[in-house]
Amino acid sequence: MTQAPTRRPAAKQARQPNQQPTSAPESAPRRHVGVLIVGSGFAGLGAAIRLSQDGRDDYLVVERGSEVGGTWRDNTYPGAACDVPSHLYSYSFELNPRWSRSFSPQSEIQDYLRGVAAKYNIGDKHLFNTEVTLARWDAAANRWLVDTTGGEFSADVLVSAVGALCEPALPDIKGIESFQGEVFHSARWNHDADLAGKRVAVIGTGASAIQIVPAIADRVGHLDVYQRTAPWIMPRHDRDYPRAERLIYKYVPGAQRLAREAIYWGRESFVLGFAFQPKILLAAQRMATKHIAKQISDPQLRARVTPDWQIGCKRILISNDWYPALQKEHVDLVTDGIAEVRPNAIVTRDGTVREVDAIVVATGFHVTDSPTYELIHDAGGRSLASLWSVRGMQAYKGATVSGFPNMMFVIGPNTGLGHSSMVYMAESHINYVLSALDELRRHGIATFDVRDEALREYNAGLQSRMKQTIWTKGGCASWYLDAHGNNTTLWPSFTFTFRAMTRRFDLAAYRTTAKADRADRPLETVAEGVPA
Ligand code: NAP
Repeated sequence: MTQAPTRRPAAKQARQPNQQPTSAPESAPRRHVGVLIVGSGFAGLGAAIRLSQDGRDDYLVVERGSEVGGTWRDNTYPGAACDVPSHLYSYSFELNPRWSRSFSPQSEIQDYLRGVAAKYNIGDKHLFNTEVTLARWDAAANRWLVDTTGGEFSADVLVSAVGALCEPALPDIKGIESFQGEVFHSARWNHDADLAGKRVAVIGTGASAIQIVPAIADRVGHLDVYQRTAPWIMPRHDRDYPRAERLIYKYVPGAQRLAREAIYWGRESFVLGFAFQPKILLAAQRMATKHIAKQISDPQLRARVTPDWQIGCKRILISNDWYPALQKEHVDLVTDGIAEVRPNAIVTRDGTVREVDAIVVATGFHVTDSPTYELIHDAGGRSLASLWSVRGMQAYKGATVSGFPNMMFVIGPNTGLGHSSMVYMAESHINYVLSALDELRRHGIATFDVRDEALREYNAGLQSRMKQTIWTKGGCASWYLDAHGNNTTLWPSFTFTFRAMTRRFDLAAYRTTAKADRADRPLETVAEGVPA
């Protein structure tokens, strides 16, 4: 049976205990909140906690899933784990001494997020199973009108924390819809599908696939792995944290923070190669080449798994069991492109027909063309997707877009990383949101809209820096680049510069209007005279 993997009707998600009802009566009036946060992954949950800590209770989080967690709730595929060490891949305000190993499995990260949500007691600030269907700016009322599957809302400020990796991308392969067996996306793993003894195909060899293939290889009857582009893979230096070490993290003041700092700075050093001097990465490429040589003896297979682009151009993957899995008797690496899918088989361009019972599509996400951007409309009804289809994704400091007042992203365009923790970037953006809210309150501001010239100048600087990065110069095609060939996804510098840049809301970059009770002050110029 074919499972539609892209969108889940929110109403079909299971309700968790203590969750609020998800649908409002037809006639229910629009509920107003100060801040409406969309999404409750690391970014949205972190924003909610910080708002609560700041004494701002006038907010609500709408989340289409049935609980917190975002991508860590959705990606339950076998072998799912983080490739950034958990001491760093966690909130700075909530270190967890109980991590069981350096690279935590998905279930442990999801448990951590559940635990954090419970500890900060913000469950009643969430509407789960609630999907945004439209958000439009009402210029007359100076507020966002947000329609959801759980009722209608208005908000002074809209915070989009949906993340870049939330909308699975299906491969556009002829005939795939006619496949009669199980077919599902890695991020929508169908746990009811019994793969034991079955002929299974995995399409893709990215970060998800290289975790899935070794995890299912011994369970299935036969496995075909369809590789379009070979990835660079480094050894995975993973280890259990023994009990004694965990006790040290728990009881010795500063020990875990020190471990976190060490990981942070070690990872930060990669930026030199990624963003400034790509030649530095050649040493890493030599290590990855040795990894292939050490794990594969067959020269033909070695050649087929060796990328023809420079390491770092796409995400550097880590695995000790990917190459061994490919060499198992019943596993085939298929590098001839896929021509079509038939009801019971995949046909490659050389005409070979391989019969399969199930297909796992590990083909990534809609990042630069996320359907979520179609749901956000400016005062004139123009969607963010339509704006960005012309000029590419652009947001001032990754957070704000001209023409979309009072809306902020937490981890928006050009905030992604290939080397370190996205939680750090999310926390930086949360600082920016909180600082913005402070400024609004302090100066009686009703609306803020980033000046077009500020956004243009910011983006020009960013794209100019992008030219010298490995992502531009490395000779690969990747999801980092949009249809215009611009890298609109990654942050091209050190993360501490991003932290510094987002520490304070820079009102001078924004056009603002005053609240009605400050109407004696001229509109558009409230920010003038405000100390920077
Ligand atoms: P991905 O990195 O975008 O990889 C998708 C794979 O599918 C690539 O090998 C791609 O080939 C292939 N593909 C796409 N369309 C195809 C088609 N039509 N026919 C054949 N092959 C096709 O996706 P992902 O593996 O899900 O990872 C996405 C991102 O999620 C990662 O970059 C990372 O940021 C994050 N992630 C992180 C972790 C972690 O440990 N922290 C784990 C998993 C994912 P090409 O290379 O030729 O495009």
